Amino acid sequence: MRAMVFHKAYGPLRLEEVAEPEPGPGEVLIRVEACGVCRTDLHIVDGDLTEPKVPLILGHEIVGRIAELGPQTGGPQTEGLEIGQRVGVPWLGATCGHCRYCREGQENLCDAPEFTGYTRNGGFAEACAADARYVFPLGGGDPVALAPLLCAGLIGYRSYRMAGAGRTIGLYGFGAAAHILTQLAVWQGRKVFALTKPGDSEAQEFARSLGAAWAGGSDETPPELLDAAILFAPAGSLVPAALKAVRKGGRVVCGGIHMSDIPAFPYADLWGERHILSVANLTRQDGEEFLPLAAGAGVVTEHRAYALEKANQALEDMRQGRLQGAAVLVP
Ligand SMILES: [Zn+2]
Ligand SMILES: [Zn+2]
Repeated sequence: MRAMVFHKAYGPLRLEEVAEPEPGPGEVLIRVEACGVCRTDLHIVDGDLTEPKVPLILGHEIVGRIAELGPQTGGPQTEGLEIGQRVGVPWLGATCGHCRYCREGQENLCDAPEFTGYTRNGGFAEACAADARYVFPLGGGDPVALAPLLCAGLIGYRSYRMAGAGRTIGLYGFGAAAHILTQLAVWQGRKVFALTKPGDSEAQEFARSLGAAWAGGSDETPPELLDAAILFAPAGSLVPAALKAVRKGGRVVCGGIHMSDIPAFPYADLWGERHILSVANLTRQDGEEFLPLAAGAGVVTEHRAYALEKANQALEDMRQGRLQGAAVLVP
């Protein structure tokens, strides 16, 4: 099969002909229809995340159809998966099932996890193998439009849950995750304030078109105090900025897997029971909640499709902030 393969940080992904994976025990082989490109992929390529398996096929927003069931596939958690069925494969590729986090409903924090497109091969390819217990059944529709829901949507949703039930929410960094979340939050009657790269009037216009009550630069102060702020931009300097924008008791949620260092700030800015927290990975329950919710809210993803071999171009467009919404590869 054709795949875009990562060999080392800073180097481009290379288009290669590789052997199609054999689904192992408990795995399914999936024919990839579309795979989203996530900022985490960029962090791997740029060497910010330092422990990828090598060589590696990136990609953890996979939409595809089951082509083969591996041996011992079955049991309560994989019951109902069949050949031809459409599924989604997210970042959480597998967990140990017995550490304290797995036992206590926090499998996103598992001590021995596997991650799709990081510690196991992902979807920048014509096919991939996935642990059947961690795939989500998906309905019909355009696979390219569905792909961004698998990470931007899911991690965005987990961040949103962690932000609490407040009515006013600030979103710092208006990329794939924020554009999905805005639609969900507005549908739920919340007020969204979008904070983009200063001067990015196109992104601000995009945010307003999706229902944001206000959009401005991240160097500005939103017109109302926020109940919560969610940071999707990987800039640590936004943490103290967001702390100043939230009310007493408000939350600042860091939604990315990597961020530049957070500069020092006065304790007074944290005082008043403001919280700073990070969101790590996802649980299967997040997917089970979010995917029907996104469908119910009528979330429409803005996406740009690229041929598989254009993966480096898609990553570069994301790095340069040239994308409105999400980039999706189509093999
Ligand atoms: Zn991701
Ligand atoms: Zn575990």
